[in-house]
Amino acid sequence: MEPQQRMKELIEELNRYAHEYYVQDKPTVEDFVYDRLYAELTELEAKYPMLIAADSPTQRVGGIISPGFEKVNHEIQLFSLNDAFNQADLAAFNQRVERALGHAVSYTCELKIDGLSISLRYEEGKFVRGATRGDGTIGENITENLKTIRSIPLQLKQPYSMEVRGECYMPKQSFLKLNQEREEAGQDVFANPRNAAAGSVRQLDSSITAKRNLSSFLYTVADAGMLHVTNQIDALGELEELGFKINPEYRLCQNIEEVWDYIQEFQQKRSDLPYEIDGVVIKVNEFVQQDELGFTVRAPRWAIAYKFPPEEVETTVEDIEWTIGRTGVVTPTAVMTPVKVAGTTVSRASLHNRDFIELKDIRLNDQVVIYKAGDIIPEVAYVLVDKRSKDSVPYPIPTHCPVCASELVHLEEEVALRCINPKCPAQMKEGLNHFVSRNAMNIEGLGPKVLAQLYDKELVKDVADLYLLTEADFLSLDKIKEKSANNFLTAIEGSKGNSAERLLFGLGIRHVGAKAAKILMEHFGDIPTLSLAQKEEISSIFSIGETIADSVVNYFEHKEVKELLLEFQAAGVNLAYLGKTTAELAEVTSIFKDKTVVLTGKLSHFNREDAKALIENQGGKVTGSVSKKTDLVIAGEEAGSKLTKAQSLGIEVWTEEEFVANVEEKDGE
Ligand code: NAD
Repeated sequence: MEPQQRMKELIEELNRYAHEYYVQDKPTVEDFVYDRLYAELTELEAKYPMLIAADSPTQRVGGIISPGFEKVNHEIQLFSLNDAFNQADLAAFNQRVERALGHAVSYTCELKIDGLSISLRYEEGKFVRGATRGDGTIGENITENLKTIRSIPLQLKQPYSMEVRGECYMPKQSFLKLNQEREEAGQDVFANPRNAAAGSVRQLDSSITAKRNLSSFLYTVADAGMLHVTNQIDALGELEELGFKINPEYRLCQNIEEVWDYIQEFQQKRSDLPYEIDGVVIKVNEFVQQDELGFTVRAPRWAIAYKFPPEEVETTVEDIEWTIGRTGVVTPTAVMTPVKVAGTTVSRASLHNRDFIELKDIRLNDQVVIYKAGDIIPEVAYVLVDKRSKDSVPYPIPTHCPVCASELVHLEEEVALRCINPKCPAQMKEGLNHFVSRNAMNIEGLGPKVLAQLYDKELVKDVADLYLLTEADFLSLDKIKEKSANNFLTAIEGSKGNSAERLLFGLGIRHVGAKAAKILMEHFGDIPTLSLAQKEEISSIFSIGETIADSVVNYFEHKEVKELLLEFQAAGVNLAYLGKTTAELAEVTSIFKDKTVVLTGKLSHFNREDAKALIENQGGKVTGSVSKKTDLVIAGEEAGSKLTKAQSLGIEVWTEEEFVANVEEKDGE
């Protein structure tokens, strides 16, 4: 093929992947696939510089700005980084640097956090604006979303005006939890923690971002001259002193050999870190040397990103299992010949949904390449099509539930297939497991095997039947002796007295998690009252949205549910909330009731929004300025003119500690 033609093809393909990656947060190929194509393009462009096209991804910083966000002009551009993939690339980088400067240099090594770039603007120490990198010159305004991230200080320890840059990321554990929840809810899962972080921070509704448990590591200041230091290693120290979260693993290396040792060390430690990294960033340490080296159109000449090679292994898909979750979502899992990947033996990988299987064209007996997403979750990367036997056929996606044989459906806006038969035995068993689980009725000892037997023997048809079981019922099960039977009965009996939020959560109403169940019970006091409530009343409760309200109302409309409640009542299961109701809480915490409160200074236990919400939830009003109408001023560290004014007006002032003590008193009750 003509080089020009190939370059055009590569640009089109790379730009399509970049759109999926940066705008949709939904890549369809792995990073190393993108990197390989990118390297091919770079090579061709080096050979034929006359053919470099203006829309080539090598000519600009990768990101793209989504409509829907306000645009932010970056006064000082944000850059991408050039890549190194092996020791030779690294040596070549070192040579370029030494040749340009005429002498050897020291380097700072930092972990390359796999999140998304953020730029934070501070005015006189106050966080005023946060943005994505975008195309480097224009980014997206995500200030409100970034304010929900606790590690981003809203107030610096010094009144500096500066732009600080770093990475926003999602810890591995949060990523796992989020994907689990999404899979259970029939939603698309995120490909890796980076895309999950990008998708979470680029939400139009910041309350969604707030729930995603994001974090940040900051590593530079746009205009490094703003800091009172002359090199990167000291800059990291100063950023930390200003209140930023800094990745602690950075190291000063005296030469490129030490850099290589650092890379090797962290390639080993990578899977033990609680956040995902995709390499190491190597920066010339001294700022004067950085200035001398300067930038290309898209990246600094004084830094390079060493990308870890993906740990990939080959194995065979022996079977595809379909499991039915509590809510009827049907999830396929590849059962594979066991192989070792990134430290553990892997034999199963979720295939997520029908689309995933079809897109990757995964078939039985296929040789596949697997890797661990976020270093934790085994994923099928692609099929080795060349190794496929001639008689292979596309995998037939089931049309009927493998357990109850009812037809599977594809609900609108869902990628998942669902079994919508509410009496499907697989769903019923999952429902029982959920009912007895720790955050629900907490019936200890009753595991999935016992529950499955109880269900199969028709001793339990719904969750309320658990309360009618006798010793003889348990003794009729396989391997159950008198002692365990009695333990089960005692645990079941004990659960009757639980406060009703546990029962409500245990019922497994869609979208009603443990937290929502508690809020609903605080408000309504008992389940029968909730079961009669109107949608408007439910959705008007703080932090309960329309989706939950709809789901609750639909659930309690069913005749079977009404009968279920009667069965619980007859069995003596408590349906009332035993904690304090919202009204009682408001009574007790009348400290803030009808009070006008002003928050000032830097709070270290809360971010502003949380503190404000706490006060408002307890009937208080939070305003921005101190006047005669102010009842209370809560003054954090370095409070300034508002505190002085409050003192001159004789208004009551609390320290943050006093505020915390009052809030905790309330929570403890
Ligand atoms: P990059 O991710 O290779 O490197 C630059 C970025 O590294 C910086 O913007 C910064 O956000 C980040 N970084 C993390 N830790 C850092 C630290 N300590 N110091 C400095 N920077 C640090 O470059 P890029 O332009 O953001 O993205 C290109 C990469 O994105 C590609 O190499 C590819 O892996 C991936 N990509 C994948 C697809 C896909 O479809 N899978 C598409 C487009 C891009």
